[in-house]
Amino acid sequence: MHHFQYQNDQMYCEDLPIQQIAQEVGTPFYLYSHATLKRHFNAFYNAFDGVDRLVCYSAKANTNQAILNLFAQLGGGLDIVSGGELYRGLQAGFEPDKIVYSGVGKRVDEIDYALKSGILMFNIESLEELEIINQRASHFNTVAPVAIRVNPDVDPKTHPYISTGLKKNKFGIDIVSALLGYKAARKLDHIEIKGVDCHIGSQITDVQPFKDTLASLKNLIDELREIGISIRYLDMGGGLGITYDDETPPAPDEYAQSIIQSLKGSSLKLILEPGRVIVGNAGILVAQVLYTKIGETKNFVITDVGMNDLMRPALYDAFHAIKPVTQTQDTAIVADIVGPICETSDFMARDRKIARVYRGDLLAVMSAGAYSFTMSSNYCSRPKCAEVMVKGDRFHVIRKRQAVEDLCAGESVPGFLDER
Ligand SMILES: *Cc1c(COP(=O)(O)O)cnc(C)c1O
Repeated sequence: MHHFQYQNDQMYCEDLPIQQIAQEVGTPFYLYSHATLKRHFNAFYNAFDGVDRLVCYSAKANTNQAILNLFAQLGGGLDIVSGGELYRGLQAGFEPDKIVYSGVGKRVDEIDYALKSGILMFNIESLEELEIINQRASHFNTVAPVAIRVNPDVDPKTHPYISTGLKKNKFGIDIVSALLGYKAARKLDHIEIKGVDCHIGSQITDVQPFKDTLASLKNLIDELREIGISIRYLDMGGGLGITYDDETPPAPDEYAQSIIQSLKGSSLKLILEPGRVIVGNAGILVAQVLYTKIGETKNFVITDVGMNDLMRPALYDAFHAIKPVTQTQDTAIVADIVGPICETSDFMARDRKIARVYRGDLLAVMSAGAYSFTMSSNYCSRPKCAEVMVKGDRFHVIRKRQAVEDLCAGESVPGFLDER
């Protein structure tokens, strides 16, 4: 359960009517519940009770400073995929030695930044990357802590665009080459082998793919031990799914048990990189109806939320529940809920049953806490929308709405345009 519930036909976020926030902030805006964020983080962390573990929240799901700051305060670490996320994480107060760095395309400047910051480890995704990190660490006369991201060739049975642990995916190193990678790493003077890492995909709704992955990683760790390479950290990545529609993902406890059971007796320190499961259902996107077009064959509800604000439906045909902020007795219609952008993929929902709504009504696009604001853009020169956090009966604008003046920032007209 989350904290977006109706009281007397009005949707509230915790103890505040969403209508009231909309009046003060304007629309569209993302809205996060502090209580839900905190509960989700703690539930995930506590599910692994009794296990030596570090929960490295996956920044790319939602990088707002207020949200990162909250997870840092709750004792979390951070999983990053860029120098920009490292900057955000350090700004938000994460201790560098709780930060793990994944990603297939780390640039030299990003590697240098992470080395200087003293992160916990680099999750290496290719043997060339291993070489480069060794060179950079040598340049700074230091030692780079690493894990190899293993691609276990396990099918996570999720959308193909968010499946990352199959051989055909660009991520990680297959398990045979990984063994060679560790042997190579052992010979490098500026590399310290710390762990084994994986991340097989996102929005996974079954524990079996995680179990299969863990089984092959354990085999690898045993083989490594036999040749004298000892592993301290086992990083299981993220990927646990949430309910958007009618999915029934395992609860954090069930997920944790499936991992803990096969780790009994080992001295490995467990790292987890949850993103979506922590923030996904802790946020919504509030839209305003601009127009309705009730047609003979098709109905359209046109709102002020575009695919630039929430890209998931256009990108993955993702489902988001859409609810009226004020419930009415009006009969339902079936409509496409679309935005103002000049693209046919600019929709939040298609052929969706929804109560008849009118210009000015507010709609809540549910489950919009993960991969939502972070994927937003300025397409069609639409300023990025505001983000708001509620705690009890208080709210705070945690990111102000962009102004049109912000849109041209950094752009420059060359003098040579005036030359004849
Ligand atoms: C995106 C990502 C995660 C988080 O995935 P979720 O499905 O949001 O839990 C974790 N680790 C890595 C390496 C990622 O790229």
